[in-house]
Amino acid sequence: MEIVHVSAECYPVAKAGGLGDVVGALPRYQREISHVVKVVMPMYRTRFLYENKWEVVHKGGSSLGYWWFEYTVIKEATNLLGFDLYLVDIAGLLDREKVYGYDDDAERFMAFQIAVIDWMAKWQHIPDIVHVHDHHTGMIPFMMQHCPSYQSLSGIPTVLTIHNAQYQGAMSWDKSIYIPGWDSWKRGLLEWEGNINPLACAIKTAYKVTTVSQNYLRELRSMSNGLEPLFEYEKGKCSGILNGIDTDVWNPATDPYLQHHIKPSDPGKGKAANKRYLCDTFGLDPEKPLFVFIGRLVGEKAADLLPQVIVDGFQFIGRRMNFLILGSGDPEVEGKLEVMKPLSAGDYGVYIGYNESLAHRMYAGADFLLMPSRVEPCGLNQMYAMRYGTIPIVRKTGGLQDTVVDLDEPGGYGITHLHASVGDITHGIYRALQLYGDPVRMKAVRKKIMKLDFSWHASAKHYIDLYRTLT
Ligand code: ADP
Repeated sequence: MEIVHVSAECYPVAKAGGLGDVVGALPRYQREISHVVKVVMPMYRTRFLYENKWEVVHKGGSSLGYWWFEYTVIKEATNLLGFDLYLVDIAGLLDREKVYGYDDDAERFMAFQIAVIDWMAKWQHIPDIVHVHDHHTGMIPFMMQHCPSYQSLSGIPTVLTIHNAQYQGAMSWDKSIYIPGWDSWKRGLLEWEGNINPLACAIKTAYKVTTVSQNYLRELRSMSNGLEPLFEYEKGKCSGILNGIDTDVWNPATDPYLQHHIKPSDPGKGKAANKRYLCDTFGLDPEKPLFVFIGRLVGEKAADLLPQVIVDGFQFIGRRMNFLILGSGDPEVEGKLEVMKPLSAGDYGVYIGYNESLAHRMYAGADFLLMPSRVEPCGLNQMYAMRYGTIPIVRKTGGLQDTVVDLDEPGGYGITHLHASVGDITHGIYRALQLYGDPVRMKAVRKKIMKLDFSWHASAKHYIDLYRTLT
C-alpha cells in the first residue's frame, strides 16, 4: 500500500509538540511492515534542512487567490528517517524558522496544501491513501474532491487524524478566494459557525477520522470547542487509535541526550546518576524527590495552576521535594514561574523555552512527572516518563486515562486525580511522597512502568487495518 502523510510537523525535521513526534514515528513503523510511506511537510528553515542531503524532485506553480506562487519539492536523499521525506518550499511563506505563530499562518498553510495536491496531481500514478493531520492540512480532502483542477485525485481515500481539536484554523469567508476553483454548491462542507473551518471541513470530507486515543474521541462529543454536534453526527466514521512512542528515539539505555544510560533491568543506578546531574545543573537537593513538568505553558495543560501548586505544596506539605519546570507559552505563566526563582531554597528550578535535550534529561532524572492537563488528546510525556522510570501523576482525562492506571486500582502503576485543581494536584504530590518514602514499593513500580509496552507496533497496524477498509 502507498500512504502519503501530509503534516505541518515531523520530528526531527521540525517539531512543536506531539504531532511532530507522531509523524516522525508512525510512518517508519508503517514502512517496517512493508508499505510505501511518504511524508510531505513544509520546508521550514530548521537545522535538519541544512545538515542533510536533498534532491529537487519537482518545481511547479499555482495561485493563492490573486497571487501566483512558485513552489519546489525536495526529497531527503539518503532515507535517513526510514521513509520518503519531501519538503515543499514556497518563498516568502514557508522559508521561516518556526512552524507556527505568524500572522499569515492561514496563507502559509493554504499555499502549502495547494502545492501538495498540485504536485500529487502530476504524479504518473495515484497513492492508495492520503493521510492528513490536524487543521493545517485539513483542506486537502475537500480540495481533492471538489476542485475540478484536481479531479484526478478525487477517488483517493483520505484519512484525517485529529491530534488536537482545540485548534481548528477557522478563517473568514474572504479567504475563500484562496481555494482553487471549487464547486460552490459544496460551500456547506467548508462552513462551521459562519467561518471556513479547516478542521470541521476535514471531519466532513475525509473518508475516515481518527483521534489519538479512544477516550478523547468520547470526550470530543461533549467538549470540542464548538464541534460537538459535528462529532456526534459523524461518529460513524470516527475511531480512536492510541499513539505509540518511538522506542528507538526514546530508549533510556541508548538515548544520546543522556550522560548516564538507564538499564530497564536495574534502573536505580542510572536514574540516580541522571537525577544528580539535573540537580547539579539547577542547584537542587538530590536527596529530595524530584517532580517535573514538561510542556506547553497553556491552559490546556493546566500550567496556570503550577505556581500555586508549588507554593501550596511547600506550605502545606513542607519543603520535602524539588520542582523543576520546562516549558514555554502563556507569558503570564512564564512570568510567574520566573518570579518564583529567588524563593527557591535549593528546591525549585525553571527553564523557560524549548529544549529537546533537557526534556530527555528530565524524563530520565525525575522521580515523578506532573501532567494535570485540562485537555489531553493522547499525551506522550507520560509514556516517555514511564519508559524512563518516572512515575506519572496525571489527571484522568483523554489519553491519560487510557494509559495510566492508578496505584490503588488492580495492576496500577501511576497516580491519577479527577480535577485540574490545585487541591487535587497537591494531593497527588502527597501520595507520591508516601510512595517515595517506601523504597521497596517505589522500586517495584519503577521497574513495572519501564516494562510497559507503548510502542507503535500495535497502533501502526490499526491504521493499516483502517486504510484497508477504504481501499
Ligand atoms: P502537545 O502535543 O499537546 O504539546 P504531547 O504530550 O502530545 O503534547 O507532546 C509533547 C511533546 O513535546 C513531547 O515530546 C515533549 O517532550 C515535548 N515538549 C513540550 N514542551 C517542550 C519543551 N519546552 N522543551 C522540549 N520538549 C518539549
